[in-house]
Amino acid sequence: MAGIEEARLEDVPLEWDTPLFHQARVQFEQALPYAAIAPAVAERLRYPERGVMISVPVRLDDGSTTVFPAYRVQHSSVLGPTKGGVRYDPEVTLGECAALAVWMTWKCALLRLPYGGAKGGVRCNPKELSSAELQRLTRRFTSELLPIIGPQEDIPAPDMATNEQTMAWMMDTYSMQKGYAVPEIVTGKPIALGGSLFRHEATGAGVVMVTERACERLGTPLAEQRCVVQGFGNVGGIAATELVAKGATVLAVSDVSGGVHAEEGLDVAAMHEWVRGRGSLAEYPHGDKISNAELLELPCDVLVLAAREDQVTAENAARVEARLVAEGANGPTTVEADEILAERGIVVLPDILTNAGGVTVSYFEWVQDLGRLFWTRDEIRAKLAEKMADAFDRVWELAREREISLRAASLVVAIREVAAAIEARGLYP
Ligand code: GLU
Repeated sequence: MAGIEEARLEDVPLEWDTPLFHQARVQFEQALPYAAIAPAVAERLRYPERGVMISVPVRLDDGSTTVFPAYRVQHSSVLGPTKGGVRYDPEVTLGECAALAVWMTWKCALLRLPYGGAKGGVRCNPKELSSAELQRLTRRFTSELLPIIGPQEDIPAPDMATNEQTMAWMMDTYSMQKGYAVPEIVTGKPIALGGSLFRHEATGAGVVMVTERACERLGTPLAEQRCVVQGFGNVGGIAATELVAKGATVLAVSDVSGGVHAEEGLDVAAMHEWVRGRGSLAEYPHGDKISNAELLELPCDVLVLAAREDQVTAENAARVEARLVAEGANGPTTVEADEILAERGIVVLPDILTNAGGVTVSYFEWVQDLGRLFWTRDEIRAKLAEKMADAFDRVWELAREREISLRAASLVVAIREVAAAIEARGLYP
């Protein structure tokens, strides 16, 4: 791996400068020598095109008003509208959204979707807000975003702590302003509003499609793998189900309340049933209780990171006992941890490839909405499988050819796609 030009990192403007943006930036600088793009083009890709800070006043159920900080960052609109999720989380910052927007650009380019990257969020604790408060928050946030979103400009989607209902409120708010239904303004909507079949399952299913293909290439069939899954939400929960469906053993899973471990394998369907009734895995009566930190260090073949960023770090990477790490979340492995895992021969399936199933079916959803023509679940699953396999193969080949990590190869493939478009369009005016 080429050295990082530290000098290039000193110029990060204060507004973006967070550990996560630094991580995205270092990854970019490490991949750049292999991408061989013009320096002026690289410079344009270092920073987002636009970042907006918003104050969202919301009337709470007790009659008081709170103002929540919120953000939307659009990294690159070269290939098409910007695309990316909206998260409700106490730790969201402008710089975090910037990093996530950068990764969305690479993710979309890698999958050859006609989009650039965006990400937004509201800094709040969604667990402390009622459904009515979340609705008012979402509607006011959407109103504040009106000048910069649109089906041809920037298309939001779910991310951490947002879901189909959040998207329905966003779609309704936008449509009421326009005076007619605009389903193509968001993706990840309820099916009843023009959402796509298989969108809900797409990210988790995509994680398993990529993992299965990697296992094939490594000569270790997925059906024989012992897997640990961090996160039991929309990504980890679905990935665990898909792994079991492929014959793999899921020996541990976790959510924010902690983890459950059973060497002989867990009954994932029963755990979903439990979570549906109780809201979390806490108190689940079978298996052994473990902490999230312990879960990451369990000996296994495949470790799926589907919780959040910054999970495998310089502190715990030396104790990860998996053979293959699949990043279902965005940015779960720090730059230092990446190096430690590589030295130990642990293969990392990078986020921009591995969790791209979500945005890929978002693209299918948008296309269906624009065409007012809808596909079957099997058609969508097959189209997703084809796109994930194609992206995986391009990444795998380049990694082999250049002897670089799958992360670097994914970035190189993606950076080249965006750079070619920038070169062809030229600089305005
Ligand atoms: N939030 C998801 C991601 O990080 C999905 C984004 C989308 O569908 O636009 O990829």
